[in-house]
Formats: sequence, structure tokens, C-alpha cells
Amino acid sequence: MVGASAAGLAAAETLRRAGYDGTVTLVGDEPHAPYDRPPLSKQILGGQWDAGRLPLRGRDELDALGLDLRLGVAATGLDPAGRTVALADGAEVPYDGLVVATGVRPRRLPGDGGAHVLRTLDDALGLRDRLTAGTRLVVVGAGFLGAEAAAVARGLGAEVTLLEPAPVPLAPAVGEEVGRVLSRAHLDHGVDLRTGVTVTEATGGGVRLTDGGRVAADEVLVAVGSVPNTEWLEGSGLTVGNGLECDEFSAAAPGVYGAGDVACWHNPLFGTVMRIEHRTNATEQGMAAARNLLAPEPEARRPYQPVPYFWSDQYGMRIQAYGHLRGHDEVAVVEGSLEEGAEGAFLAAYRRGDRLTGVLAVGMSPRVLRDWRRSIAAGARWADAVRRAPTPA
Ligand SMILES: Cc1cc2nc3c(=O)[nH]c(=O)nc-3n(C[C@H](O)[C@H](O)[C@H](O)COP(=O)(O)OP(=O)(O)OC[C@H]3O[C@@H](n4cnc5c(N)ncnc54)[C@H](O)[C@@H]3O)c2cc1C
Repeated sequence: MVGASAAGLAAAETLRRAGYDGTVTLVGDEPHAPYDRPPLSKQILGGQWDAGRLPLRGRDELDALGLDLRLGVAATGLDPAGRTVALADGAEVPYDGLVVATGVRPRRLPGDGGAHVLRTLDDALGLRDRLTAGTRLVVVGAGFLGAEAAAVARGLGAEVTLLEPAPVPLAPAVGEEVGRVLSRAHLDHGVDLRTGVTVTEATGGGVRLTDGGRVAADEVLVAVGSVPNTEWLEGSGLTVGNGLECDEFSAAAPGVYGAGDVACWHNPLFGTVMRIEHRTNATEQGMAAARNLLAPEPEARRPYQPVPYFWSDQYGMRIQAYGHLRGHDEVAVVEGSLEEGAEGAFLAAYRRGDRLTGVLAVGMSPRVLRDWRRSIAAGARWADAVRRAPTPA
């Protein structure tokens, strides 16, 4: 396993649970044992949790897995023919099966290096130390990460400016109407949200815009997307495009599987290629990759066809989504309302072609969401699914 985080750990645990008692090597370039990232932009940044709550497993649980755990060392090369992984410390690790789970890193903007990004524990602690009441924080990018950081910073009393190039934040992902509702939350909480604004340079002291203007700041957080960590695979012959390209079994080559944020694979349930940067998928795909790795013959492998899930917490509001929302043809609000002044709870359904492909909800019970998830997994037709909804829009 290369990448010692959610996906790599899930793969290692699945091998052991399935009774595999050979050597399992888990290589990670961070010095920390596997830890959870979602709290970084929530409880860690907000100061409610300390770093001690982040490890995905306790020391005893990790020890019980009997891993050859190599932390603080990067994989630098892969030879699929010779079945070895080269490490930065000069070691060559042989393998029978490999799971590539190296995740993504933040995309950066030109600048003097003084701007923050938010991916690792060290990033989160570094930013947390700088946020106090009155800090002028500029957040570049109003995606889920930027939005969560803006919300937490407001909670700490920082003055937050949120800059976003698109007219409506998150519109390609969730649709314009829903994107507008999520933006409203920023305005309601005193964030200076500026849309249609593109940043060309981010420094410790502020940002420069395409029109030549500047926004001054005490701290800048750049949250403008991510880049898959695939450079170490160069020259391996594996196909790298938008991440490591895998088939419907999550396989990239014989004996090599991809899992988590770094992997782009064909999901047969939706008939499309996807790369998912969400926590639940990392675990599920790590497990699926390990199971397929252990299959006695290729025919025994199972396609990896999940209904993706994610959540995001902003201003005390929990956003949850199932399915594949991107590239939708239509969004319909089937429960609650998006109107200003409404209770705030709603469920939006997403159509692609004649199928229900996703739902996004705020303030809905887990039972309601589970029912919709089941319909998506069953490949429900849009007309049937939306007709059945209790209060169609
Ligand atoms: C701040 C933050 C908040 C988030 N909030 C949510 C949320 O609310 N909901 C949600 O669904 N998802 C959320 N996510 C996304 C979720 O955390 C990721 O989807 C998940 O961590 C992916 O796990 P992974 O194992 O695939 O990759 P990663 O967690 O990125 O782990 C990959 C590991 O591999 C290491 N690595 C990279 N290259 C090499 C190499 N060459 N050799 C060795 N090791 C290497 C990396 O340093 C890293 O430790 C959030 C992410 C962040 C950063």
C-alpha cells in the first residue's frame, strides 16, 4: 500500500480481515500515523479538538495489524514488471499486489509562499495558530473546503473575505439554485463574499486580482482545488490522466489497484468515469481494491460501483449528498424549499438523462436520505423517483 491514510489503511485492514497473513507494507510520506482529514477544516481549525483525536486507529490497533509501516518516506518510483516500489530512502519494496492510495495535494497559486493551504494536520495547526478575533482572512475559492474554513473563521471572530471566480459558488457541482442557497449562508454570517473575482497571486499579505486590484489580508488561505499525487508513477507505464486511471474493478494494471482521492475509475452504476475526493469513498475503495487483489482468479473480482457520499458542515448546517451530481441535466427541489426565510431544510434531486443520479440535502433525517440512496443504487428512473417524493416542487 502506498499512501498511509484512509484508503491505504482500509486496504491493509481488509487484507488482514480476509485472513491474508503475508507481509503488508504501508508506506506514507507524512510523519504521522494515518489520521482523519475532515475534522481539519472543522473541529481542528475551530480549536474544539486537539490533534490527539485525529488518528484513525490507536497504536494498539495498528500494532495488531502487524504491518511493515514505513512513515515519513515517499515512494519515488514503480516498476510493475519487476513488481517493486522504490522509496526515497533507497529501499526497494517488492510486492505481489499494490494499492496506490497517494491522494491529492492542494493546487497552489503563484506568490511568495506565505499563503496557507489546508490538507495536512500541520497545515491546519499552522492556520489555526494565526486565526483570532479580528484577523483579516482572505479565502480564495468558495468550494466546500474554502466554505468550511470561512465558516469556522467567522466563528472565531475573524473578518473573512471569500473570493470566487464563478458567478455562483459550487454551481457546476450542485447546480445554481443550490449554490445560491449555500452562498447565502456566508452573507448571513457576515462573510464578504465576492464572486466573479479571479486571483492571480496569493502572498502572505494579500492577493492580487486579474483586474490589477489587491485585497489586503493578515492571512490568506488558498482553496482552489487539488492535484493527484501521481508524479512518482512517471515512467511506470501506468496511465495517469485525471489521477491514476483504473477500470471498473479499480485495477490500473495486473496486480496494481488504485483507491481514494488519487484514483479515477469507471463506475458501472453511473456508466461514467469518476474521481471522488470524499472520505467515505476512500475507505470503500480501499476495501474494494484489497478484496479484488485477493480474488483467486480475475473472474472472482467484483466491479466497484458505489453510490458516492459526502457531507460538509458549515455554520451549523450539515450538507449531505449521495450519488453523482456533477454533469446533471436538471435539479428539482423535492422536499422543503430553497426560498429565503424558509426553514432551511431541503432535499434537491439531480437528473441525468432519464435517471435519478443524485440527491443533496440540508437538515434531512438519515432515514429520508437512505431511501433516496436506495433509489439511486437501484438506478431509479427520474419520473418514478420524483413522482414518489412526498412534496414535489
Ligand atoms: C481539510 C479537509 C476537509 C475535508 N472534509 C471532508 C468532508 O467533510 N467530507 C468528505 O467526504 N470528505 C472530506 N475531505 C476529503 C477526505 O479527507 C479525503 O477524501 C480523504 O482523506 C482521502 O483519503 P485518501 O487515503 O485517498 O488520500 P489522502 O488522505 O490524501 O492520503 C494520501 C496519503 O498519501 C501520501 N502520499 C502522497 N504521495 C506519496 C508518495 N509518493 N509516497 C508515499 N506517500 C505519499 C500523502 O501525503 C497522504 O498522507 C476533506 C479533506 C480535507 C483536506
